[in-house]
Amino acid sequence: MKLAVVGAGYVGLTTSACLAELGHSVTCVDSDASRIAILQGGGVPIYEEGLHELMQKNRAAGRLTFSADLRPAAGHADAIFLAVGTPSRPDGDIDLSHIETAARQLARDIRHDAVLIIKSTVVAGTARNLGRLVARERGGDAVSVASNPEFLREGTAIADFMTADRIVAGADDDLGADRLRRIYAPLRARDIPYLEMSTADAEMVKYAANAFLALKLGFINNVADLCESTGGDIRNVVSGIGLDRRIGPSFLSPGPGYGGSCFPKDTRAFAALGKRAGARQWLVERLIEDNEARKRKLAQRIIDDMGKGGRPRRVAVLGLAFKSGTDDVRESAALTIIPLLQASGAIVHAHDPRASRAAAEFLPGVRFSDDCYHACGDVDAAVVLTEWDEYRHLDLRRLASVMRGRLLFDFRNILDPAEVSRHGFRYRPIGHSTGP
Ligand code: NAD
Repeated sequence: MKLAVVGAGYVGLTTSACLAELGHSVTCVDSDASRIAILQGGGVPIYEEGLHELMQKNRAAGRLTFSADLRPAAGHADAIFLAVGTPSRPDGDIDLSHIETAARQLARDIRHDAVLIIKSTVVAGTARNLGRLVARERGGDAVSVASNPEFLREGTAIADFMTADRIVAGADDDLGADRLRRIYAPLRARDIPYLEMSTADAEMVKYAANAFLALKLGFINNVADLCESTGGDIRNVVSGIGLDRRIGPSFLSPGPGYGGSCFPKDTRAFAALGKRAGARQWLVERLIEDNEARKRKLAQRIIDDMGKGGRPRRVAVLGLAFKSGTDDVRESAALTIIPLLQASGAIVHAHDPRASRAAAEFLPGVRFSDDCYHACGDVDAAVVLTEWDEYRHLDLRRLASVMRGRLLFDFRNILDPAEVSRHGFRYRPIGHSTGP
């Protein structure tokens, strides 16, 4: 099939490359001409494991092209995926302006029998409203609008698409349902569960899934706090509950508070929808407050433990991305914690294997380094904020030799406490004994 994907961000690029890999002919369009120029030159404007190779392969096979011109790409397509951003508005509700702008731009050019498929995360009812908007733009000629939410995780996006736990296909008419079935035929043949439902239910699935996962993270962070206060060990508790098949082991790692481009904005939108619809989502509303408070609390913990001295404290932050495997820093813990450290008078050094460039524009005054030992040079404390493998395998002897202090915060619990202590560090993990 001939497909167009609007939006060349994390979701749009992964979707384009994977749909091409399934055998479709895909044109990926973005209004950001510089982004398209990079793509047309064979580059990739984001970091995502395996994406570059998959794109190269499908470009070479003639199945994947890029364009800054939305209208011709949309005019030739059997289906057009909308994968543009849906950011938060200041009141927490979702901003649909990118989706609506894209739909208006292409409304008059799409074929009458084409299907518009919303891949962006949108609140229940959006596909139906967009259908009305497009029909108005086309002078009453309605087209089918479907919903196909994306569940990929940055860092494992390609595997998440190709071996998805399930595909959710939302359609309110036969044309939409049939087009989605044909697009995903190769994945359906691999026995990936394929769920058909209304567009509104498909939209709700995405929010309910993300809110539930964020609640799991928030819950285990609360239990980690309780373990700290009662002398327990969250690692034992996680193993103990994670093996219960009703609970499952994933999303049970305590950390510095969730971030990223999805959980914070999706939980806010879910809570805002609950308020609007008169069905308050109290658990999620409380979670949102807790999660932000957690980042501030951990910043205070660093400040308190470093203490005050005659000279300004120096601290190295290891990890700026909201999680490993990505260069995405949107709403990452680092973006809250680092300014608070600076406000306390500390000098902050920072390292991230992938995300320094993306973080730099949000973190004035930070001394970035390409080498984590260089970043830790002469600091009083080091703080692991992202679970990169590079930090799991830190050379602790070398770290001890370059730091002036011995305070090591591990907000991902990825270091071996015995090893850390053996090298003379004061170890500060999450949810278990902090040692001397
Ligand atoms: P992104 O910000 O990385 O990319 C969006 C792209 O859309 C940008 O390159 C922008 O230039 C382009 N764009 C905006 N308006 C346009 C227009 N009118 N025409 C053409 N291009 C336009 O966003 P993302 O992270 O890929 O997320 C996209 C959507 O998918 C969001 O709704 C998000 O919630 C959802 N989602 C994201 C993830 C994730 O992990 N990033 C996972 C699942 C779902």
